[in-house]
Amino acid sequence: MFDYETMPLFQVQFHSKENPDMLRNLQSNQIGKMVVIPGIITAASKAQIRATKLVVKCSSCGHEKTIKLQAGFGGAMIPRQCDNARNQGPDKQMCKLDSYQTYPDKCSFID
Ligand SMILES: [Zn+2]
Repeated sequence: MFDYETMPLFQVQFHSKENPDMLRNLQSNQIGKMVVIPGIITAASKAQIRATKLVVKCSSCGHEKTIKLQAGFGGAMIPRQCDNARNQGPDKQMCKLDSYQTYPDKCSFID
């Protein structure tokens, strides 16, 4: 087993032959990817990303819905019931509660 408390402190230095990107040119689609930026790290914290557009899809009927979020700190409200479930028709019974799933690839985010 690895004992983190007795592990000595160490520093890691990465080197890359990639062309450095400027910090201000970083985009949200680079989240989770290794990037090269010139500079010295003075502090580090976890990135806070925020959705500006959510695309959700009903796992029962495939109904796709786009939810646009306003600026601010309010959370996203994903409807518990599919829009098609509210309509009268033969498919009415198909969609269960909380059938909407988020598709991160189609969503838009800001840092
Ligand atoms: Zn549905």
